[in-house]
Formats: sequence, structure tokens, C-alpha cells
Amino acid sequence: MESHSWQEWEKKLAAVTAAFEAEIAGATDEKAVEAIRQRYLGRKGGVLAGMLRTVGELPAAERPRAGQLANAARGAIEARLSERSAQLAVAALERRLAEEQVDVSLPGWPVPAGHRHPISIVKAEIEDFFVSLGYDVVSGPETEYDYFNFEALNIPKEHPARDMHDSFYLGETTLLRTHTSPMQIRYMQAHAPEVPLRVVVPGRTYRRDDDATHAPMFHQVEGLVVGEGVTMGDLKGTLLALARAIFGEATAIRMRPSYFPFTEPSAEVDVTCTVCGGTGCRTCKGTGWLEVLGSGMVHPQVLRNGGYDPDRVSGFAFGLGIERMAMLKYGIEDLRHFYTNDWRFLAQF
Ligand SMILES: [Zn+2]
Repeated sequence: MESHSWQEWEKKLAAVTAAFEAEIAGATDEKAVEAIRQRYLGRKGGVLAGMLRTVGELPAAERPRAGQLANAARGAIEARLSERSAQLAVAALERRLAEEQVDVSLPGWPVPAGHRHPISIVKAEIEDFFVSLGYDVVSGPETEYDYFNFEALNIPKEHPARDMHDSFYLGETTLLRTHTSPMQIRYMQAHAPEVPLRVVVPGRTYRRDDDATHAPMFHQVEGLVVGEGVTMGDLKGTLLALARAIFGEATAIRMRPSYFPFTEPSAEVDVTCTVCGGTGCRTCKGTGWLEVLGSGMVHPQVLRNGGYDPDRVSGFAFGLGIERMAMLKYGIEDLRHFYTNDWRFLAQF
């Protein structure tokens, strides 16, 4: 009876251990592991605690061995619970990593990059060209004195450019400069009598105009060269090289006699039509030529106003509109596109 009882107890412990093994193998999360721990190792109502309580009913000779077996079973169950917890934690982490995996090879969302404004592009090209020839690049005040804007440039009182309807006057003697030419005087006065002098002046200018080819604010580049023996041939060679740098190597130029108060002689400069290449089209009205800038030899009185002796030095000057150059270069028909900030227009450059 007693030995039978012992065998029964041992068999029961083996069954408990086997049941535990099956349950713990089926546990799929930490919550299930904890429930199994309570069920087998709980101090009250735990299966193993129940087994230990029955050790006292065994024959005295078998009790130590039963106690050892029960303790070994407890140790094995505790070890298995920890092992299963660790396995589940690793599995949970791996599952999370798989679910949250980021494929770094997938293409990203395109971020629209900014574009340089066509006026800025052409301005930079013109500046680069003249810097390569050794010119200084300077800017001047946009608010200018009547003296520098008109008087010193030989523009007499009765000249229509001085009319209130053509210029933005700020006071009796100040206005928004109508061209970049005032810097001819300012630069000569600041550098007299240093020769040779080579400078370009890019900047904003203002006139009371507003239509498809004129804006109240626009950009000019003034050029001035003063030195001993500077000729009209130097002017033409410089402008031909500029035209080729901006419009392409096949470009030709021609000069037509013109009149500006601050140059003598004066010339309008045309380039071969950027649309037809010179054969004649609607843009060039069949002539094959497009007007791009005004130029001439610096008037002796303007040299004197700048502090130079016209008997000793000569010079040439030119003024071009950056908007005009950009319109011809890119085939833009309306000047106002430059200032409406339409992304569809700006993104093309
Ligand atoms: Zn043409």
C-alpha cells in the first residue's frame, strides 16, 4: 500500500511536469506564461504546492526523496518559465522589426528645388563675362541726385527724360535713378585720374512705364572703359564678344548711328535675330536683326565731369537692359512674366 502510494505520487509528479511542458510550449505571450506560473508555482492553489502537501502522506523513508523530486521539478519549471519568457520576448521583437521594417531603397518623395530667376541667370552671365575681361563690378545708389542722373551726363533741363511723367521724383533734387549711367560719373570721380578704368554696373532702374515690353522697375548693366587710345573698335570688339557669350558663337552684331546726350558718337547695337538666326522672321520683322543696347564714345564733357582730361584719354560706354537680353535669349514675349512669380514660368529656367 505504502509503496503503491509512492509510485502513485511519483507518477502524478511526472504527469504534472508533462502537463506543464505541454502548456508552456503552447504559451504565445508573456500573459499566458504568467498564468501558467501561477497555476503551477502559486503558493496557494498551485499544482506543485498541492503535490508538496501530499509528501507528508508518503512513508517516512520516501519523504526525503519525494521532497528532492518536488524541489527539482520546481527548479525545472522555474527555469523553463524563464526560458519561455525570453523566447517570447525575442520572437516579439523580431515580429516588430519585421512589421516596422523600412525599405531604405524605396524612392522618396521628390522635394522641389528652387530655380534661379532668369534675370539673375543672365545678370550673372554678363558679370562673369566682364570679370573675365578684368572689369570691376560695382553697384550704385538707386536713389540718385538729379546731378548724377542727368546734369553730369549732359542731359539738359529741357530733355524729356527729366519730365515728371517719365521719372519717379522723390524731391526737388532726388529721384529713383532712370538708368545705371550715373555710376559713370561717380566711378570716374572716385578713381580719377587712374587709367585705364574698366567697370560694369548692374542694378535696378526705374521709369514710369508699364506694358508688355516696359516695366516701372527693370535691370540695366552699365559699362564704362576709359584709357589712353580707347577707340570705337574696342567698343565693337567688346560688344561682339559679349553678344557671343550670351547668345552663342554664331551671333553677329551691327552698329547703327544714334543719339545719346552722354556719348559722341553714339550707336544702337543690334544682334542677329535669336529666333531665325538672321534670315528674317516675325520677331525681327523680317530684318534679321534685334536691337539690344545703346553705346558710344564717352562725351568729352562727361569725361571732364568725371575729372578726366578728354585731350589725354578717351572712353566708351554702353547700357543694356537685362530683361531685354533675357527675353531674346529665352524667347519670352511678355516682360511681365518676370515679375508675376508664376511657378510654371520660373521652373523652366
Ligand atoms: Zn528673326
